[in-house]
Amino acid sequence: MPKNTLLVTGGLGFIGAHFVHHVFHRLNDTKIVVLDKNTYAADKSRMQEFINEERFFYEEGDIAEAPFVEAVFSKHQPTKIINFAAESHVDNSIAGPHVFLKTNVEGTFNLLEAARKTWLEKTQELKPNYQQALFYQVSTDEVFGSLSTEGRFSETSNYAPNSPYSASKAAADHWVRSYQHTYGLPVLISHCSNNYGPYQHGEKLIPTIVRTALSGDPIPIYGTGENIRDWLFVTDHCQAIFTLLTKAKRGESYTIGGNTERSNVSICKAITTMLDAKVPKSNGRSYTEQIRLVSDRPGHDFRYATDTTKIKKDFGWQPEEDFEKGLEKTVIHYLEQYKHLIDKQL
Ligand code: NAD
Repeated sequence: MPKNTLLVTGGLGFIGAHFVHHVFHRLNDTKIVVLDKNTYAADKSRMQEFINEERFFYEEGDIAEAPFVEAVFSKHQPTKIINFAAESHVDNSIAGPHVFLKTNVEGTFNLLEAARKTWLEKTQELKPNYQQALFYQVSTDEVFGSLSTEGRFSETSNYAPNSPYSASKAAADHWVRSYQHTYGLPVLISHCSNNYGPYQHGEKLIPTIVRTALSGDPIPIYGTGENIRDWLFVTDHCQAIFTLLTKAKRGESYTIGGNTERSNVSICKAITTMLDAKVPKSNGRSYTEQIRLVSDRPGHDFRYATDTTKIKKDFGWQPEEDFEKGLEKTVIHYLEQYKHLIDKQL
């Protein structure tokens, strides 16, 4: 058996599953353990191609349950952890915040505690078998709050979370940072902007646009539609994480993003224009006519943007996927997923 073990929490989710696909053969000396609660956001079929691999293990359970987390650590003794597991949808955090506190904060705490007990001989001293240990926390740029039309978030931005989701992610980051500072646990945090790509849960913006457009329903866009997000193709995020996981100095943080700022309404129009070309309506009308502005999300952040100078300077990382091409690949994926709706439409 390989001597390195990477524990990937949330590996059945959108980014976690892409990450496992991205690294499994690159890390061919590493045992990969996916830990996931298999919530509504999970897709087990994404791990199908790995289940017969000797180096792959799946543990189903909740990171908010300390005995389960401890059992996984004592069984697999991970040398590195990457924590993707989270409740990730802002709207859900507004409707029901408690599970965000449980999973995103208490869950991260349980992982930190298990790592501390497994890896440290004593404060500031790693056990001999864990000299290469790393706790990688996958955070978000949303912990920094909202920007006006100017500026970008960077590693030195102040925390100013505005939603229960971003507050829970910020709290988790603080716990992670404190374990480095107090106990000498080797940690790394990255803050990424909005990811997009195939296999994202249907609740998120891009799949929602495709699905409602094809259903002939109103395509809902919050507020004025002018809120701006920076978009990064999911495999570019995976490559950034892989780079940091293998090369970055412990204790650092990095902001990651696509340098692609778009308003929600412009994303929506780009998609409806693609649909007009790929699956034209028989009546010759445009899907754009279905766009409807709906009541804004409470506390909706106006703009997010990230400064990626540090990761580019330290490791030469920059996004490879062109936004329009990435969006087209994404739309093609959802056209396949929602093809039963196309038949209804035509
Ligand atoms: P996702 O919602 O698609 O997947 C989350 C996964 O975590 C699911 O498989 C779910 O079953 C699992 N999970 C949830 N609660 C759990 C628990 N209590 N115990 C164990 N597993 C649990 O999320 P995603 O979009 O893949 O995001 C992954 C991470 O990246 C999250 O931490 C998120 O905050 C962060 N992030 C996401 C984005 C984005 O645009 N999607 C951007 C920046 C950062």
